Amino acid sequence: MRIDDAEIRTDLATLCETIGERLAGSEREHQAAKYVAARMRQAGLQEVRLERFPCTNLHRRSADVQEPVATGKGWREVEALPMVGSASTPRKQSVEGDLVWLTLPEAQHRLKPGSLRGKILAIFGPMPTSGSAHRQLLAASPAAVVHIDERFPFGYVKADGAYPYWVSHYGMPPIVSVAYMDAWRWRQTEVKRLRVRIDVGYRRAQSCNAIGELPGTDPSLPAIILTSHLDTLPGNVGADDNASGVASVLALTRAFGATRPRRTLRFIAFGAEEQLSVGAVNHVRYGGITPANTGLILNFDSTASILGHYILWTAGDARLAHHAQKTFARHGVDTQVQHEITPFADCFAFNRAGIPSLWCRRMNFSGGRWQHHSRHDTLENISIPDLARLLPAAAALVGDLANRHRWPFRTTLSPAQHQLARGISRALLGW
Ligand SMILES: [Zn+2]
Repeated sequence: MRIDDAEIRTDLATLCETIGERLAGSEREHQAAKYVAARMRQAGLQEVRLERFPCTNLHRRSADVQEPVATGKGWREVEALPMVGSASTPRKQSVEGDLVWLTLPEAQHRLKPGSLRGKILAIFGPMPTSGSAHRQLLAASPAAVVHIDERFPFGYVKADGAYPYWVSHYGMPPIVSVAYMDAWRWRQTEVKRLRVRIDVGYRRAQSCNAIGELPGTDPSLPAIILTSHLDTLPGNVGADDNASGVASVLALTRAFGATRPRRTLRFIAFGAEEQLSVGAVNHVRYGGITPANTGLILNFDSTASILGHYILWTAGDARLAHHAQKTFARHGVDTQVQHEITPFADCFAFNRAGIPSLWCRRMNFSGGRWQHHSRHDTLENISIPDLARLLPAAAALVGDLANRHRWPFRTTLSPAQHQLARGISRALLGW
């Protein structure tokens, strides 16, 4: 299958350079959706459409974190990004307070109602992962929270977002992310106080999914859906996360555009993934997606890092991963397999409905991708030739499965996996 580097380059340049940052519900995200729909039509897809759904748009954001200078005279600013979903500090003014350190999750039990009033809380570790832990954090009433993500020991800040369901149901304190190495220096120099100012504005907005399909010759067979996402977090153009995935799906529309597969192939670029797959959840929940009509999701999210391991992240039975791994290897692409239900990708919405998925990604350090959700997620950090080598393998897998009546693996999640997906969905999405 021929994959044209120049076409991929065009898609990436349009998304990252012409359009740029693509926040959920923003005009630029919408522009990206329209571009993708136009490219789908060009490739010969049918029923190309934009599926609209409500989301929250972060339309105003600024944050400052200041540390005292060593001489005791004045303050110095450090790089900070407000967490998407964060509250503003009162009257959008700076709050100053004693710095209190908390390591999570082990010290969660130290959060007592009112215990952090007037303090700046520095959290080292993951943010609370259960609704009850999150409510404990709120009840402790810190003046502001500074989050240090232990997975990313870097000198620059990574953007992050809170679960929208928690934001709307429980609320959020003012939270900023800072660079790990800034927090490290605060420990070295025994910084005792910080100043934090957060000014964020949200509005209800519309996001959309760009969808197109190639109707199968046998509509009674469950479809294969190839997915990616259009949006980015604040402060980056999302070259790897996820212009690379959108470009992957578009390359596959061109590869299959002139074919007539036995099973329907649907191609989607979702909106608002970074808000925990709002577009994918909307599509599955209200679009009548069930295992009876959908057999497999092949998700492309972050596929083009210039250095890395290809990971086939699967939800489904072990034979699915094995089959995909073998097919990729036959086409010169060696992959690692990981079996896990994760809520942090669009395929999760389909897992929630009992549908298996395979997420194709490329990781460049054991914690993930160093450049993601930061100003470093740029075109120079992704490789078009590598992407062009990956896609024929994916096309071979899809082409084979699309023309088979039976698959050499289960076409639904096991009851245990499905139950797990439903539990995660209830806790994090309220669905
Ligand atoms: Zn992503």
